[in-house]
Amino acid sequence: MHETNKEWLPGFDKKFAELTHQMVKDLEKCLQCGKCTGQCPAAKLSSYNPREIIRDLRMGNVDKVISSHELWLCFFCSGCYAVCPRDINFPFAVSMLRYAALAQGYGWEEVKEIKDPYAQDYYDTGLSVNVNERNLGVRKEIAKNSGTDGRIETVRRKMGLPPKRKISQRAMSEIRFIADATGMTDLFKEIDKKVAKEKSWNYGSPADLVEVRKGPNQKFIDVEDEEKERIS
Ligand code: SF4
Ligand code: SF4
Repeated sequence: MHETNKEWLPGFDKKFAELTHQMVKDLEKCLQCGKCTGQCPAAKLSSYNPREIIRDLRMGNVDKVISSHELWLCFFCSGCYAVCPRDINFPFAVSMLRYAALAQGYGWEEVKEIKDPYAQDYYDTGLSVNVNERNLGVRKEIAKNSGTDGRIETVRRKMGLPPKRKISQRAMSEIRFIADATGMTDLFKEIDKKVAKEKSWNYGSPADLVEVRKGPNQKFIDVEDEEKERIS
């Protein structure tokens, strides 16, 4: 297994040195008993497998893990943590690995799905659930249970409430402060930049400006950005 955070995440280690070191120490305690996978809801529905992820990391297959789609299937219920006989905080490891994936150019597609509309709505309005819920499955379920069209806005009106919960200026300032402090604001800017670049690529800018990152998650990597990194 990689011993230092430096080997795990070149460039990323400076920012998260202490946390990644803690994660490596944590995962080294794993018995490979599989209890985490046995009760993981995401593992029941997909090829996601927490025990295998830990095994891969211990074998040094970091790139395989951070380039995988499976890394983005965990939804942080913490059930694995609750049953682990070695008290391993696997959800914490997943969050660190996701940062690592993004730092290496993977996972942007998955983050884009979360950003628009969900995280962006939260950033813009302070509401963690959009009143015009755009997940059709969820909306269908709400419709069935409420006798409405399933929009939260409609349900609130039916209950005599204003369509949107009022968010105070103070709460909005706190949300923005947290977004800035945790790097969420910068991450959003980075996503928008990448989306704009992909669009320009789709419309026929020179193909040699991008290259495909090999791995289960193939991504367009900006050659100019990588070149700048090599020089600095
Ligand atoms: S339950 Fe804990 S010890 Fe067992 S495989 Fe999962 S992380 Fe490792
Ligand atoms: S926190 Fe993630 S890995 Fe753990 S049980 Fe829940 S979905 Fe599975």
